[in-house]
Amino acid sequence: MERQQDYVLRTVEERGIRYIQVWFTDVLGIAKAFHITPAELENALAEGMTFDGSAVDGFSRVQESDVLARPDAQTFQILPWRGGDAPVARVFADVTNLDGTPFEGCPRHVLRRALERARDKGFSFYAAPELEYFYFADGDPSATPRTLDSGSYFDLTVNDLASDLRKRTVLTLEDMGIPVEYSQHEDAPSQHEIDLRYTDALTMADNVMTTRMVVKEIAQENGVYATFMPKPLEGRQGSGMHTHFSLFEGDTNAFYDPGDPFGLSKVAKGFIAGVLHHAREITAVTNQWVNSYKRLVVGYEAPVYVSWARNNRSALVRVPVPKKGKTDSTRIEYRAPDPGCNPYLAFAVVLAAGLKGIEEGYDLPPEAAANLYELTVEERMAEGIASLPGSLSEALDAMQPSELVAATLGEHVFEWFIRNKRAEWIDYKVQVTQFELDRYLPTL
Ligand code: GLU
Ligand code: MG
Repeated sequence: MERQQDYVLRTVEERGIRYIQVWFTDVLGIAKAFHITPAELENALAEGMTFDGSAVDGFSRVQESDVLARPDAQTFQILPWRGGDAPVARVFADVTNLDGTPFEGCPRHVLRRALERARDKGFSFYAAPELEYFYFADGDPSATPRTLDSGSYFDLTVNDLASDLRKRTVLTLEDMGIPVEYSQHEDAPSQHEIDLRYTDALTMADNVMTTRMVVKEIAQENGVYATFMPKPLEGRQGSGMHTHFSLFEGDTNAFYDPGDPFGLSKVAKGFIAGVLHHAREITAVTNQWVNSYKRLVVGYEAPVYVSWARNNRSALVRVPVPKKGKTDSTRIEYRAPDPGCNPYLAFAVVLAAGLKGIEEGYDLPPEAAANLYELTVEERMAEGIASLPGSLSEALDAMQPSELVAATLGEHVFEWFIRNKRAEWIDYKVQVTQFELDRYLPTL
């Protein structure tokens, strides 16, 4: 720890860094920052910086609104897109109470606590998300979205601004120590995807925050707007953040069992069963906006039904078949989350659901055989396949009685989240939309 702090202080001096951004995240996963000069850094690393937490969504408490941001020296990075002669750096902070105890509104703390529970059982938890997003031609987000291309899956086009932006984003991420496994044009026009190489879940939640920032920065520098909104275009695919998860015991992938016909261990099966069992309860966290539920509809490769399968993109949990000899990469892909989620909270609830399945020895339901979108309601009911919540309101109804989610988020975050999201639902519900005017006014 000391050494890491020394390294940070030395780097700041040697690289002539004049400005350091201290990043943290509110309960909804929105990036926040304040800025300090190198003169303040030593003190900030040693003692933290006080700030008024009541100004941050989800941090507010009636009394003692002051909290401390404690920079995590391990996360120090120079921002390659800023600064020129006087580079800018950033560091993530943990938020604590003034007495040094973790602040219960801090999403990093929520995830750390979930990871500690896993560690008590001997597991470390890894995540690898696939972030989908759109580029729109106007730098101004209030303009009507105009796509940059009419491309589709894997298109390789010449002289394509969006592909160039994506390439620069990937190279910037690599410069920042965030390895990218893969990137591609996605199905919808102007829709792209960046898949990050797996790391432990806390590093990955930080990496998701950084990736969202880098994608947006590089777009903005070029007068383009990048968005992680789950469903910006009607009639087109939405943007998901399918995430691959695995548990390790030391160096051993705990999801792999060579003796099983699917190569899946009892731990993996318990984990999948847990995630499926609690899927409806955790969806408000993995899909937290009114707009998230416009994505979770039939026909756009987004999950709608609570099911698992090996190679079926309509399922909620997909188990990718590892490449020959690469059994260490045995993992599950959870396809519900969207890139507008708070990654700290989303990873924490998926982990908690999976661990619960392992602890309680839940039975894994049979693999979904067919394309689930094509099943009739009766067929689905006969197979006992539930649906994900159809709206934010339904998702909150499923979350509210959940002991699992309350224990994972902690009372403060849980209650604030439900209150905030119910208010969002009401703001949405009271609107009279163009759809209603078009459909009802002429006839009613
Ligand atoms: N865009 C789809 C979604 O909303 C996923 C497409 C894919 O399979 O990568 O989840
Ligand atoms: Mg994709």
